[in-house]
Amino acid sequence: MTKTLIKGAMVVTMEPDLGDLVPGDVLIDGDRIVAIGRNLEVGDAQVIDGTHRIVAPGFINAHLHTWQAALKGIAANWTLLEYFKWVHRGLATQFRPEDIEIATLFGALTQIDAGTTTLVDWCHNNPTPDHTDGAVAGLFASGIRAVFLHGPPKPDPKPGEPHFSEIPHPRHEVERLLKGPFASRDQLVTLGLAILGPHYSTIEVSRHDFRMAKELGLIASMHQAGPTPKTPGGWDMLEADGLVGPYVNIVHGNDFSDERLRRYVDLGVSFSVTADSEMCAGHGHPITGRLLACGGNPTLGNDLETVTSSDMTTSARVALQMQRALDNAVSRERTQSIPATSTITTRQALSWITTEPAKMLGLDSKIGSLAPGKQADLVVFRADDMNLWPVHEPVNALVMQASFGNVDSVMIAGQWKKRGGKLAYGDLPGVRTRLKASGDRILEGIGYQWGAV
Ligand SMILES: [Zn+2]
Repeated sequence: MTKTLIKGAMVVTMEPDLGDLVPGDVLIDGDRIVAIGRNLEVGDAQVIDGTHRIVAPGFINAHLHTWQAALKGIAANWTLLEYFKWVHRGLATQFRPEDIEIATLFGALTQIDAGTTTLVDWCHNNPTPDHTDGAVAGLFASGIRAVFLHGPPKPDPKPGEPHFSEIPHPRHEVERLLKGPFASRDQLVTLGLAILGPHYSTIEVSRHDFRMAKELGLIASMHQAGPTPKTPGGWDMLEADGLVGPYVNIVHGNDFSDERLRRYVDLGVSFSVTADSEMCAGHGHPITGRLLACGGNPTLGNDLETVTSSDMTTSARVALQMQRALDNAVSRERTQSIPATSTITTRQALSWITTEPAKMLGLDSKIGSLAPGKQADLVVFRADDMNLWPVHEPVNALVMQASFGNVDSVMIAGQWKKRGGKLAYGDLPGVRTRLKASGDRILEGIGYQWGAV
């Protein structure tokens, strides 16, 4: 029997035509959703009782450096400058391929545990092909759907070596990956590029990397809004070259003007906001509201488990509330009173972790919402947990009240990856032990002592 019927749940589809069904049923056959409705009768399906359960599209985490999973919380008091010093120029240099592999495996399992079914794994610690192979193996082993973004590390150069900002993205390595683990572009884990972009590289390197991504048909994601840009005016040059388009994803666009944001939204560029980590790092205000005003929509990630929690409901809540606070402050300044209504709804915030990142990845025909014909990627929350009960509005509950601990079950491509509150991964205790040992060794490698930094 390959059919599964989730019956009598609160179903949040994120499809305008389907809406929320309270109660509703979801029928899954193989890796796909085949029906959503009320009182579906299916004779040959395994029936899952959906009473007191919220069923939602699996979340999409648009930006996570999964390789840092063994260093959880270490950077929670660091600005971006301190993070660069301690993580990229220090801790990152201590990683062996097996450290990348275990961190990526554990980090991806953590995502599944929290209801994420698609992970944009922004892996920028690939000093050797063996490190890359470790990360890719970890992703595949976890069972998550993912886009692996291959990126360069940012160490201090050794004597005689060029600075990382002067090194073009290694095409031979990208081609090796496209011939090897990513030979199929229609599989659970696919490839993209985590490039330096004009903020962190020379214009020659940026041009090379943009052209390569465009030619190979890969998403090119890059950080923005860090310290002084490596190439001031770089974006204007790339625009003049016709290299700014829908394959470009910009993370932390905080330093972009409204004019540039509007122009790039019109060009189809996607923007990823990591409100939680941006507020810690010193990037300035997240661009959520400015993007909305430009006709765009953010996609959300949580960036760094070294800084924050990596569950997407927290990311949605923080981004939403941060923007509401900004909007409300502007309104109060203008009217000296309370705003008549909220500027942004919880449903909009839920779209930033479901439908919007699906579009960013070009996967919106497959994932991001619950609809017949789409992949069966979904998350089931326990609505009768203390912190959620009683649920009157499931979307409000998901965005404003739910947490990691309410995730009962997670399905990816029709397979239960978490069921009844337990991950369906074999040797989880062994993975936890390996991760802890890896984290301890890496911290010892730079002489880290608790409370020292
Ligand atoms: Zn990042």
